[in-house]
Amino acid sequence: MDVEIRGLTKAYGSTLAVQDLTCSIGKGEMIAFLGPSGCGKTTALRMIAGLVTPTAGEIEIGGRSISGLPVHRRNIGMLFQSYALFPHLTVAQNIAFGLQARKLPRDEIARRVREGMRLTRLEAFADRLPSGLSGGQQQRVALARALVIEPSVLLLDEPLGALDKNLREAMQMELRQIQQRLGITSIIVTHDQDEAMTLADRIVIMRAGRLEQVGAPAEVYGNP
Ligand code: ADP
Ligand code: ADP
Repeated sequence: MDVEIRGLTKAYGSTLAVQDLTCSIGKGEMIAFLGPSGCGKTTALRMIAGLVTPTAGEIEIGGRSISGLPVHRRNIGMLFQSYALFPHLTVAQNIAFGLQARKLPRDEIARRVREGMRLTRLEAFADRLPSGLSGGQQQRVALARALVIEPSVLLLDEPLGALDKNLREAMQMELRQIQQRLGITSIIVTHDQDEAMTLADRIVIMRAGRLEQVGAPAEVYGNP
């Protein structure tokens, strides 16, 4: 298994946001954390990203514990509903940002930025600012920016939540195709059952901080 989560727990005072979450994610697999608002999905994802410190539990990626590692050492790509692009940087500059921070050679950065723009069909927008792009295009920039660092895991926090229904469905397909083509191990947080069923190989259903059920879409939502 590529990602191993064991006994992951987060308490905020007397609130157990996540309680004893244990699950495994295979290499190249796309898992959805699904459940109603407040069930602990985002907290679980943020602990994997290193943005929230667990109260208890262990997280391994590729057989190595990442519990002690700061965010920038985890080599994790993240996508948020809000895109979180840099407004004063062009599309290419936004995609290049994490590569420049890692001090990769110039030609390697240029190669990866071109590849990222090709994968997300943004070549024609390289020199545009985010404000000149549609919501779907902005989210593709954020996706390219996350992918060019060649992350070991991609974490997606309600990434399509701000898009209207038609665009959301188109982006689900696109996201799934890119994820499968790259074979990148991914976790998506969503409260949308249809989205989880479209995108995920397996669904982790959460309720009140706990894992309630886990299985392939047909197993957790199969005919009774
Ligand atoms: P979801 O992503 O499923 O909507 P969250 O992980 O955001 O759920 O929240 C789970 C629970 O933890 C909720 O009861 C929420 O109010 C609580 N919670 C989340 N973040 C904090 C925080 N920073 N401080 C206190 N309570 C929090
Ligand atoms: P620099 O930081 O060298 O002044 P820019 O600010 O123009 O360059 O772009 C930042 C990064 O984005 C550079 O590393 C460059 O490789 C990449 N980049 C910029 N424009 C393009 C483009 N049209 N195609 C591919 N890569 C680009």
